[in-house]
Amino acid sequence: MTKILTITNQKGGVGKTTTCVNLAASLAVTRKRVLMIDMDPQGNATMGSGVDKHNLKNSVYEVLIGEATLEESIIRNAPAGYDIVGANGDLTAAEVELLQLPRREFRMKMALEKVQDQYDFVLIDNPPSLNLLTVNALAASSGVIIPMQCEYYALEGISALVGTINKINKRLNPELKIEGILRTMFDPRMSLTKDVSDHLVEYFGDQVYRTVIPRNVRLAEAPSHGLPALMYDKNSRGSVAYLALAGELIRKSAQNDKQADKQEQEG
Ligand code: ADP
Ligand code: MG
Repeated sequence: MTKILTITNQKGGVGKTTTCVNLAASLAVTRKRVLMIDMDPQGNATMGSGVDKHNLKNSVYEVLIGEATLEESIIRNAPAGYDIVGANGDLTAAEVELLQLPRREFRMKMALEKVQDQYDFVLIDNPPSLNLLTVNALAASSGVIIPMQCEYYALEGISALVGTINKINKRLNPELKIEGILRTMFDPRMSLTKDVSDHLVEYFGDQVYRTVIPRNVRLAEAPSHGLPALMYDKNSRGSVAYLALAGELIRKSAQNDKQADKQEQEG
């Protein structure tokens, strides 16, 4: 069964794009079939996967507007080792144009229906805001991965985001749930980090990934080479952490599938 996962947090700079690219690369090296969709007009996930955002034949923009199918817009086997649908500044216009289109919240969901069976995982990167682009991603997904930095105001931000996810779940997508909360740029030497982290686990329990992503300079350097850290320095702490995250995600989703099957059988 294809897992479609949205990576989101309305806060910028928390590691959404870094997580999307490095998780996609880690899943791909474990031989999962991965499609990454860049829903951020900044196109950082596109560039970070080794694809030039200024040179896209079709992008997420054309897909959402209906000028191209998703199939036609996929760049197969990008240098990063997975398939991608890229984005650039054009996507800024989509937000306004979508308002005029039928089923404006479901354009990505509809586009994915014909291709999703080709993949084990679809990962969607998002802009640091909650707009119609993000709503399209959430309406198309079964789970949300929330990267966060363990800072003072982070918990407040997460509560707001969880409220939004619940609303989308009620109104647009009953399947949507939190896949996991990921602690990024983690520095255990800071007592504040530890406090916030403890609160997070106390409040969200199993929804918090056990894997934490350390602050690691290789993760910050890799995008300037157009590569995931795994291909730039596979032994770096950052690469190893994202590989561990991929393992945790695969185990967790197999468990969830089993549970869902059981519930179905019990009726
Ligand atoms: P977002 O997509 O949420 O805006 P990014 O993934 O672009 O966040 O990360 C913001 C900045 O922090 C980028 O410069 C990125 O390279 C850097 N960064 C992200 N995660 C880490 C990490 N674990 N260690 C060091 N730098 C990181
Ligand atoms: Mg980003």
